[in-house]
Amino acid sequence: MEGAGGPGERRQRAVRRRKATGRGSSTGGEPREGGPAATGRGRPARAAPAGGRRPGGSAERGGEAAAAPLRLRGVLSQLSLGRRDVSEASGLVNQAVSHLIQAIRGRDGGFGSISRLGAGSYYERVKISEPNEFDIMLVMPVTRIQLDECDDTGAYYYLTFKRNPKEKCLSRFLDEDGKLSADKMLTALRKIIKEEVKNIKDVEVTVKRKKAGSPAITLLIKTSSAEISVDIILALEVQQSWPPSTQDGLNIERWLGRKVRRELRNKPIYLVAKQNKKEKVLRGNTWRLSFSHIEKAMMNNHGSIKTCCETDGAKCCRKDCLKLLKYLLEKLKMKYPKELEKICSYHVKTAFFHSCVIWPNDTDWQYENLEHCFQNYLEYFLHCLQDCQLPHFFIPQYNLLSLDDKASSNFLSRQINYQLNNRFPIFQQGY
Ligand SMILES: [Zn+2]
Repeated sequence: MEGAGGPGERRQRAVRRRKATGRGSSTGGEPREGGPAATGRGRPARAAPAGGRRPGGSAERGGEAAAAPLRLRGVLSQLSLGRRDVSEASGLVNQAVSHLIQAIRGRDGGFGSISRLGAGSYYERVKISEPNEFDIMLVMPVTRIQLDECDDTGAYYYLTFKRNPKEKCLSRFLDEDGKLSADKMLTALRKIIKEEVKNIKDVEVTVKRKKAGSPAITLLIKTSSAEISVDIILALEVQQSWPPSTQDGLNIERWLGRKVRRELRNKPIYLVAKQNKKEKVLRGNTWRLSFSHIEKAMMNNHGSIKTCCETDGAKCCRKDCLKLLKYLLEKLKMKYPKELEKICSYHVKTAFFHSCVIWPNDTDWQYENLEHCFQNYLEYFLHCLQDCQLPHFFIPQYNLLSLDDKASSNFLSRQINYQLNNRFPIFQQGY
């Protein structure tokens, strides 16, 4: 299938192109301002030799490649400096959210069985550079529901109940066509939360005003020193087999193995309230598949060998590579918010998972080879941008870089090329 062969084939092409280009001429020095190399389809020119490159390979240590290390480790350690603040902030977030969940459950509002995704203190930081922004997923279990695709992405669905819902409480959220309305659910949830935040003692919590067209409920938690914002995402948890559009996705056999794939596909699916912007009339009744629980599971168990990054195993640089590219995108988005509006960290994360499949072995990601592995990953991402082709990792038919967003893709690929050619000046510009 397309999705299965895509990245691999692209990888081969990438290698061929690289060989054809030969080695780069840039060996650092002054950053070049948007010259020819930084525009169009110019190949990244690097100090590293081009021939016989294998990800994580050890062939090109020494010689000119060693002349100028990129100091990416330094960038990473800078990033981890913010960690203490994060744990402080997440403590406050947990406190507020726990209170809210208890209160929401206790009411007769249709949300009696709501809980937080993952037991305990699940939270995900939205940005590496922003320790004060969080996402929290609130989950409603649903026993059986019918999914009808609402477009050709295979990611967006209308939801209806086959029979009378067991969850009688949910019937109040059906619209006139019998579809479960994300809008109605969010409006009701928002109302409850707005009332309940007033009862939270010790911490000042408010609900941010609704932005037009945005389904998110955003909490603002104020402390003497900081303002924390928490996006609450409403999700349905459905314990049934994954829809057909996911059949050829999650191609992790080469990387994590067949057995792991089977296990992961036995986990429930999640559907998040998400407006499909392609719809002509926005009715607020579309839901999008979410795989964040699977993504998290793969991140936590990312080795082709079980002990990867555990105390008794070898360390790899996969997570560091992802962190660096996420950070690079964040910094570029801060600099060019308008131009890069269409690109988000999910693009980077998706390209990361594809890279894990292209380079499936732990030896492809040796800790010591961070710079080399990061460049490979980055170049793969560049090819995705240049080709406007980045299949959703779980739904291969769904291209996350459609031609509509070509301008953004081109812009980002130029910026990344520039960074790559000039030894990532943006990493040095403040934190
Ligand atoms: Zn590892």
